[in-house]
Amino acid sequence: MGIVYCGPFADAINEGTRYGHEGYAVQVLHDGTESRCWTTEFREYRAGCDCGWRGATIYPPTEAGENAAQDEWNAEHLRVLVRQAVAGKTVPATALLDLVDGLRHELSAAAAARPDGELTARELGRCDVMEHVERQIEEAAVDVPSPQSGRPTGGAR
Ligand SMILES: [Zn+2]
Repeated sequence: MGIVYCGPFADAINEGTRYGHEGYAVQVLHDGTESRCWTTEFREYRAGCDCGWRGATIYPPTEAGENAAQDEWNAEHLRVLVRQAVAGKTVPATALLDLVDGLRHELSAAAAARPDGELTARELGRCDVMEHVERQIEEAAVDVPSPQSGRPTGGAR
């Protein structure tokens, strides 16, 4: 059984493939061919994917080797596909800030529903994360050209 990616942009990544991208550690037999079913008699592991992709590294026939092959599939194949899928996309800063506001509202509502009305330590930690995310959004935000002038909008210039 392999690893099936169900995260963001999974549909875009799987589009055009027959079975999608299910990663696994391929068992390479002593004659150099790949096992079609699970076996205890094999020479090594390689990273593999149902789409046909194979990793370049050979791993020992151990649990650590199996895990390393799966890690290679994730880092060298899946993450590359995700980055390609999102390369031409952007999210407006307003949408990101609205998302953080929605999360903050949910925390406040949860606290208000409790008798003490206080945020828990875990919720306070989430608030710290949200403030960090808001600062990161501000730092990462760049002006985009306006549709009329082609010049960046906002900012004092
Ligand atoms: Zn694949």
